[in-house]
Amino acid sequence: MLDGKHALVTGGGTGIGLAIARALADAGAQVTITGRRESVLEEVSGGGITYVVMDVTDEESVQDGVAAAVANSGPVQICVPNAGIAEGRALHKTDTEFWRRIMATNLDGAFWTVRESLGSMRKTEWGRVIAVSSIAGLKGLKGAAAYTASKHGMIGLIRGLSEDYLGTPFTFNAVCPGYVDTEIVTRNAKAIAERAGISRGEAREMMVGANKHGRLIAPEEVAAAVLWLCGPGSDSVNGQAIEIAGGQF
Ligand code: NDP
Repeated sequence: MLDGKHALVTGGGTGIGLAIARALADAGAQVTITGRRESVLEEVSGGGITYVVMDVTDEESVQDGVAAAVANSGPVQICVPNAGIAEGRALHKTDTEFWRRIMATNLDGAFWTVRESLGSMRKTEWGRVIAVSSIAGLKGLKGAAAYTASKHGMIGLIRGLSEDYLGTPFTFNAVCPGYVDTEIVTRNAKAIAERAGISRGEAREMMVGANKHGRLIAPEEVAAAVLWLCGPGSDSVNGQAIEIAGGQF
């Protein structure tokens, strides 16, 4: 289905990004995954997946990283800004350094990744931008205003670009998962447990319960939605924020 297409997946060495990279590679795409830890990327590369080390909080690193990916594998026709960090803090504990770190990773990183990828995509006849936002991109997540703002921002970016490029062969969508079974949930269970004075198991159960169907989502379920947005017949789906959360939020 995706033979001859080059896909770029930021944060593609782990979790949701890795599941997306594998699904796209299985469908025939040449996939470039990015992240800061070369050993992690190296371990999962092969079988249609290559890697570029890139820090999405650094504009020059994104420019150089995307340029290297294009030089290696051709124009980026599927761009998946997925790299992100999920940390929560009450407003009075949110200093500028914390705010900037969340924004730089989740929002600046997505902006630079899409802008740099579009340079090559626009020279082709078909393209998809699929941002990994969150349910926190659509509703407020208690105790995580900065994260919520960054994920809302990603959806704003996608909606704005979908208007800018109307009538072109390029579409812009976001997927918005609920709690997905990755390291982020494990790390957050630890942080919530410490903050709330409960066990990690109880904290994890709180996250499981927040998904409407009462279970964690598999990374592959998010990847399946991304694959569908790249598949035949998806051309008219544009500017959407698609919930993958087991129910409506
Ligand atoms: P992971 O922690 O496994 O993935 C995050 C990825 O982002 C890592 O591969 C990491 O690689 C990369 N990354 C983080 N910071 C940077 C940076 N500065 N530069 C480059 N890469 C970076 O968690 P998930 O797979 O769960 O998260 C993926 C996305 O999904 C995130 O945007 C997250 O907000 C979103 N999401 C996750 C949910 C969940 O419940 N798990 C729910 C909803 C959305 P490295 O550290 O090597 O740089």
